Amino acid sequence: MGYGHPFTRQFLYCRMNYQETLQAILNDIEPARGKGRVAAYIPELAKVPADKFGMCLLFINGEQYGLGDWQEKFSIQSISKVFSLTLAVSKYGDKVWERVGVEPSGTRFNSLVQLEFEKGIPRNPFINAGAIVVCDMLLDGFENPKLEVLSMVRDFAGTDAIHFNLAVAESERKVGYRNFALAYFLKSFGNLHHEVETVLDLYFHICAIEMTCEELANAFLFYTNHGSAPGREHFITNSQTRRLNALMQTCGFYDEAGDFSFKVGLPGKSGVGGGIAAIHPEAYSVAVWGPGLNKKGNSLMGLKALEMLTSRIVPSIF
Ligand code: GLN
Repeated sequence: MGYGHPFTRQFLYCRMNYQETLQAILNDIEPARGKGRVAAYIPELAKVPADKFGMCLLFINGEQYGLGDWQEKFSIQSISKVFSLTLAVSKYGDKVWERVGVEPSGTRFNSLVQLEFEKGIPRNPFINAGAIVVCDMLLDGFENPKLEVLSMVRDFAGTDAIHFNLAVAESERKVGYRNFALAYFLKSFGNLHHEVETVLDLYFHICAIEMTCEELANAFLFYTNHGSAPGREHFITNSQTRRLNALMQTCGFYDEAGDFSFKVGLPGKSGVGGGIAAIHPEAYSVAVWGPGLNKKGNSLMGLKALEMLTSRIVPSIF
């Protein structure tokens, strides 16, 4: 899929052989393969081999480059928080920000302490507490929010071959004690309208969406393209898209958001499945997958790959 945006020309003028660039990056990061820890706190995710790596770079004009395991499905986990937020913003606009903030958290994605300090208003929609509130909004707004999210993601990615991995959702439900704690906490502050079980059922399913790097890069092209995708034209406004991108820039990597901004310099979102999706507005989207995580819960190989990519690609958003 591609949109032929004029800005892409800047990239094409600085023309590189992107396939070779990706291959060179992979050669450089090869020593990190298999390093880091797979997210074992969700038992089903512990089964994923740590040595996988895939990458897909997609320009807004449709030029696409893939490498390694880029067409293999993985659990997108918290990357899905961008999608659920997009659906909530499309339905409720600025009302979303009455129940969830827009400040970087500087804490882990599943931190409880911050929620106590902030009286049940999560810092931002990309930490677990914030995404749980967003799920609560989706339950208010849609008859079948699970299907609504899935069909939106399918439209963004341009394929119907995107599903929930029910085993992953169930695996997380069984041991999701922290998320239950967060949800009960939110409820005690009056920031959860539905029953905890109902909200978390939606949350765990959305986290358990499986996609490939290719599908993720395609889906994220929506955020490079002012909130429009084929079949979902002007789904959110240009201004809303900018705000979502700003949130990805400042909050997409939990307590590593500054580091990601410093080294990679793109709005993006990570997940404990080892995926990272990032965008350069009006130019390209990129998705990487490497299940070995660093201490902050972000993909070790993925971070390295993106740092190298943005160091080698000439135009920068900064
Ligand atoms: N489903 C995971 C959780 O709630 C998502 C966390 C993540 O990807 N950072 O713990």
